[in-house]
Amino acid sequence: CGIVGYTGSAAAEPILVEGLTRMEYRGYDSAGVAIQEGDAIQVVCRKGKVSELAHTLEHFDFAGTCGIGHTRWATHGKPSEANAHPHTSCAGDIAVVHNGIIENFAELREELVARGHVFSSDTDTEVVAHLVEESYRRMREAGEGDLRAAVAEAVSRLVGAYGLAVMADGEPGTIVACRKDSPIVVGRGEHGSYVASDIIAMIDATRDVVVLADSQMALLTADAVEYFDMDGNPLEPEVTHVDWDI
Ligand code: GLU
Repeated sequence: CGIVGYTGSAAAEPILVEGLTRMEYRGYDSAGVAIQEGDAIQVVCRKGKVSELAHTLEHFDFAGTCGIGHTRWATHGKPSEANAHPHTSCAGDIAVVHNGIIENFAELREELVARGHVFSSDTDTEVVAHLVEESYRRMREAGEGDLRAAVAEAVSRLVGAYGLAVMADGEPGTIVACRKDSPIVVGRGEHGSYVASDIIAMIDATRDVVVLADSQMALLTADAVEYFDMDGNPLEPEVTHVDWDI
């Protein structure tokens, strides 16, 4: 239901929690964040309110400066901690947040299970983490491609609607975002790069945003955002200035 992501020079956790809190008005049943801590991705999810997630996060003292967060409105799989996003691959090296519905997830899941993937949720979303993991690992082993290319390959298998933000522990400080029939906005602030499903989540950091179109991807790092089509060709999308007050 709500996606937020940040990579920059500041600690990610408070920025993610603030963004999720701003999107609470959309409704949700659970919330979670994935933060890059050193060379690992740490995931914390809670059923219920963002304030409960924030309370749990107090015990962790995360200092990482790159992360993604989500408020979930369940469509596939009951509201629960196990079904809350972010979802990860088997090895936990890929983390994904997703808005929307993957219509062909049952076939994809069957195919992935047959190839040895073990699932830990009942969501449609989790197939995305496993698909990205497969592509990313294959590309890495072949010495070509990167997280952006792996996400592009994975989403080419998806039927349905998606706004996605993805991280890999092999690419610290990087978030890849893309969409189909579900909103994603991207912006640059003084302290880093922001992605969200709703401008309200980043309005304090920037009022100049790119509203991603279907088949466009954004590659966020601490210092820049680059845009691509699904084949990896660079794009220069139009920047929208938001002048309304909240
Ligand atoms: N279909 C996904 C799920 O049920 C995402 C739902 C959402 O947009 O929050 O987990």
